[in-house]
Amino acid sequence: MPDTINILFLAAEAYPYIKVGGLADVAGSLPFALRSLSTRQTGGYSLDVRLVLPIYRLAQAGVVTLKPLINFVVSTEEGEIGAQAFEGSLNGVPTYFIDGFPIARSDYVYSPNPVDDREKYAFFSLAALELARILNWKVDIVHANDWHTALSVYAIRTSKKDPYYSKTAGLLTVHNLPYMGGDNGDLLDKYGFQKLLDKSVPIWARGQSLPLGLWAADAIVPVSDTYAREILTPEYGCGLQDFLQSRASVITGIINGLDVNQWDPAKDDCIFANYSIDNLKDRSKNKISLLKKIDLDIDPQIPLIGMVTRIDYQKGIDLTIKALPMLMEKRWQLVILGSGDESLEKELSQLQTIYPDRVRVILRYDNSLSHLIYAGSDLFLMPSRYEPCGLSQMIAMRYGNIPVVHATGGLKDTVLEGKTGFVFEDSNPESQADSLRKAFKVFTQPEKWLSFQRSGMKQDFSWTRSAIQYSILYRSIAFKYLHGGEQ
Ligand code: ADP
Repeated sequence: MPDTINILFLAAEAYPYIKVGGLADVAGSLPFALRSLSTRQTGGYSLDVRLVLPIYRLAQAGVVTLKPLINFVVSTEEGEIGAQAFEGSLNGVPTYFIDGFPIARSDYVYSPNPVDDREKYAFFSLAALELARILNWKVDIVHANDWHTALSVYAIRTSKKDPYYSKTAGLLTVHNLPYMGGDNGDLLDKYGFQKLLDKSVPIWARGQSLPLGLWAADAIVPVSDTYAREILTPEYGCGLQDFLQSRASVITGIINGLDVNQWDPAKDDCIFANYSIDNLKDRSKNKISLLKKIDLDIDPQIPLIGMVTRIDYQKGIDLTIKALPMLMEKRWQLVILGSGDESLEKELSQLQTIYPDRVRVILRYDNSLSHLIYAGSDLFLMPSRYEPCGLSQMIAMRYGNIPVVHATGGLKDTVLEGKTGFVFEDSNPESQADSLRKAFKVFTQPEKWLSFQRSGMKQDFSWTRSAIQYSILYRSIAFKYLHGGEQ
């Protein structure tokens, strides 16, 4: 086995170049954390992780300098499509940016037209593989993320005739199983992908990118232990549970980390007053600043619930809308920052109209305000129906904000009931209301409250922990190909 394992890390988005969702946080942090591991931490190997991203017209200007690298083509049944690669360094990680007509024709990261997106990411996945080949950079592991790049893993497994990738292992991280990419239709033929005939994959799934990647991957990584178990059940398996059970031996849950430099209340520029575990009393200045900003009464005796979230059915916001009226005998305030589903947004606005003294709903994306909500609210509510990993509960704990969460996926794995937060088992308004009642009670007991805050702030959510787990997995799948057998 060589001393270095080469990893081509593909993602649709990465912070700070471009961010739409949590995937950008992962792709913006994990490659750097992997490259930073010492050989002692990896068991003797260096990890040469290189990131590949599509070029987006609306990406943050100036975050990265793009140097033209090479022009090449992606072959299709309908002829060649030109591609251009640029190189740069994102968060200290060598990064290749890929351009070409299927990427350039849309201004979006995720286009409202799913057909455009399918082609964009099929092209991108193949272009990334082609680029490594042209650069003669020997890839030991293709690490794909979600449906967008899953076809890269399928491509290396089904083109065994291709000697360049015959010893390359494929790893697919699953951030969100229900998003499978939709049926690719003729696109798979156009780009020369083999048809999948294996009956273990349901027929409706055989034309979708994520299931193809799941079929082909040497390792499947759902983003928490609990989610790794949940996707094997009918409730969370989205129709793939039987197939995924047949692949259980290659499934390993690894929780995402948090960028602890970006999210640090002691250094955060977006909040009113910095604080740490040793001077938590300064935290209350942020609550006052937040309440002033959103024009709610300033009263330290009233617990302020915060939510920063995509407004989506997944996030269980409709359950919160039903739970709050059950709590009218209690004093509380609520601030929700988010955007998304229009009808849920409307219901939330109505909630503010009904409870103008208690509720503020801010329907937009606002990074700076999100920081102040983490630092200024007392409780952080996440009633998600499912949550593969979840970042916000980790941010909340790091900011001495106490999470109230549904026992699912990464929420269950990171929040400890009665120690760092409140965890309710059932996804319904009643359980959510009961859990909030418990939290309100602890809010009236300062000593106990402080011990919750401190326990949460002491948790290690750094990426190093996750990176070490990935490095162990990298080693075992790379070894399999180099030596033709399991380690
Ligand atoms: P998901 O990736 O499913 O949306 P996560 O909890 O994993 O959920 O990550 C959400 C991230 O996006 C967090 O960093 C959260 O603070 C941020 N976020 C979500 N909505 C907003 C918003 N409206 N304004 C600012 N930040 C937001």
